Amino acid sequence: MHEVALMQNLLRVVEEAAEKQGGGKVKLVHLRIGEMAGVNTESLRFAFQVLSPGTRVEGGELEFEKIPLRIKCLSCGEDHCPPELTFRCPRCGGANMEIISGREMDIEYIMMDEEGDSPRAPAFSPTE
Ligand SMILES: [Zn+2]
Repeated sequence: MHEVALMQNLLRVVEEAAEKQGGGKVKLVHLRIGEMAGVNTESLRFAFQVLSPGTRVEGGELEFEKIPLRIKCLSCGEDHCPPELTFRCPRCGGANMEIISGREMDIEYIMMDEEGDSPRAPAFSPTE
């Protein structure tokens, strides 16, 4: 199940981004996942539940946006979203296709908890 490895990387990236935004809690992670990315969103969600406790994303939500496969014909330039997985151009019948989108897996954005957005008092501890 490579979704576990994916989620580990993803959480690392999200934590780094959260640090830069003030180090609060992450409320929502919005992902763009291509139809052809080979990622099972159920497995990804499961990995999220298993791996997020103890991170800034703990208790947060994971949201997916499916990106349809879009391919372009290199012979005639026609680009389209095939209704099913076929790599043949509907216009000229050519099979020389390029994938434009549909294989990506990106973090579109993350939302921080409200508290993280508001200005904070500088870290100060009188006991130190
Ligand atoms: Zn074509």
